[in-house]
Amino acid sequence: PKPPPHVEFARTFYTDTTRSMALAEQAKRVAAEFEFDKDHVQKAVKEFLREMDEGLQKEGTELSQIPTYVTAVPNGTEKGLYMAVDLGGTNFRVCSIQLHGNTTFSLTQSKVAIPRELMVAQTSKELFSFLAKQIENFLKQHHEEHYSSTIKRRETGGQVKEEEIFNLGFTFSFPVQQIGINKGLLMRWTKGFDIADAIGKDVCALLQAEIDELHLPVRVAALVNDTVGTLMARSYTSPGKTGTLLGAIFGTGTNGAYVEKLDKVTKLTQSKDGGIYDKSTGEMIVNTEWGSFDNSLRTLPNTPYDIELDEKSVNPGIQMFEKRVSGMFLGEILRLALVGLLKDPKVPLFRDENSADNDVHSTTQIHQDSPLYKQWGIDTSFLSICAGDTSAGWRMLRQTLDKDYGISAVSAEDAEAVREIAAAVGRRAARLSAVAIAAIVITSGRLDTASSTSGEVSEDDVIDIGVDGSLVEFYPGFEDHVRQALREVEEIGEQGEKRVRIGIAKDGSGVGAALIALVAGSVLEETGQKA
Ligand code: BGC
Repeated sequence: PKPPPHVEFARTFYTDTTRSMALAEQAKRVAAEFEFDKDHVQKAVKEFLREMDEGLQKEGTELSQIPTYVTAVPNGTEKGLYMAVDLGGTNFRVCSIQLHGNTTFSLTQSKVAIPRELMVAQTSKELFSFLAKQIENFLKQHHEEHYSSTIKRRETGGQVKEEEIFNLGFTFSFPVQQIGINKGLLMRWTKGFDIADAIGKDVCALLQAEIDELHLPVRVAALVNDTVGTLMARSYTSPGKTGTLLGAIFGTGTNGAYVEKLDKVTKLTQSKDGGIYDKSTGEMIVNTEWGSFDNSLRTLPNTPYDIELDEKSVNPGIQMFEKRVSGMFLGEILRLALVGLLKDPKVPLFRDENSADNDVHSTTQIHQDSPLYKQWGIDTSFLSICAGDTSAGWRMLRQTLDKDYGISAVSAEDAEAVREIAAAVGRRAARLSAVAIAAIVITSGRLDTASSTSGEVSEDDVIDIGVDGSLVEFYPGFEDHVRQALREVEEIGEQGEKRVRIGIAKDGSGVGAALIALVAGSVLEETGQKA
């Protein structure tokens, strides 16, 4: 016989409430695994400072601290027409940049996705000839007259005049042992690229060879990391009294380049074959390559999900900081955490309401082809959706799970659980990012020079940072989390945090590369390295 309605109601109420409580508790437990508290932040900052110092003195250290041979930042008055290309993540960008000399610029650009097979090609020629081809297409499309007149002359054995050659800044966003302004040997690939024969080669020469095969009037004048470009671009567009300190990328990968005192870069200044660089400013931009901070995990967090992600990556054991911070990896961390929960049949996540709680075969709402079950199946943009959804009952998030991830009829409780874990992954990434920023701010000594102690921050006291990348741009609240962690660092505190100005340097790497090509172009002319 059917139980009386009040008993039935109580039973359903009891089951539903225990279900959602169990789920909420489990979500909390997993989220807590991503906690990176004040003490952790402090310890990591100390370790970062130690590794920075070590990297300035010798080669082969965790933080590579690569001298860039760029010894000055722009002041906004630079002028001219330059080209820049950018290889570093999912897209290859080609652009020409007109610097107007009044802190503004105009930029024409084209962008193509890099075919996956080229990222892991057999030979580097396959990749670099593709890049040169894109440069050719760009010239044909946007500088047609210039292109056809020079090409015609070259093909008929004629000369191309010096002033007709485009100086090109090559933004190549991988760790490179730079040995001159337009010369650098690839140390290792990151972000899913893997072409063995390129390691140890000069990437500028690889690109120039392919450009020359197409007879293009283009000279690779400068090799630039995207972080250096970001720093330059930020300095050009918002020249402050003290100059920008740091350019940082929080995108597919993560890294930062900062202004260091030249005499601290002893591995360069005390080396016999340090190459030619201008010593007059007493400074040099150093590319930290902080993606590989603390590869030996002295202070970095290490959850079971981090371990699994690393083990199944193309470069286990390296880029350990990057694997906890950047866009390429956060979605995958979340995915592994969710899959971990799903393995426990007692956790009622994405399970049909009518199935028994302890039945492994209980009906799941996940389509068998769901990307949730595939490596890299969750995109980091999904974390941004989770953090940005303010609709009632997390409608947006539930729709995304349905449309993009093949998980249907998601309950509000399910969505809440996913949100909680996703937020924890994002928060940890931002707090780790703060570790790197804090260490560089501390090292710069700029905190010691506060001229005012009143609450107001004067222009002289601003510590300027240029940032770029999908995470800072699209992840809601990223900067807030960074700032919260900065305040928790003893040497910075509330007062110091207020002095840090963080500004997006959109398209920084293109403009920055042009700026460096500008300086480099004249140096190359002087030293007779003409095309
Ligand atoms: C590379 C860096 C680059 C960063 C951001 C990292 O994987 O090693 O050179 O600056 O990604 O693009």
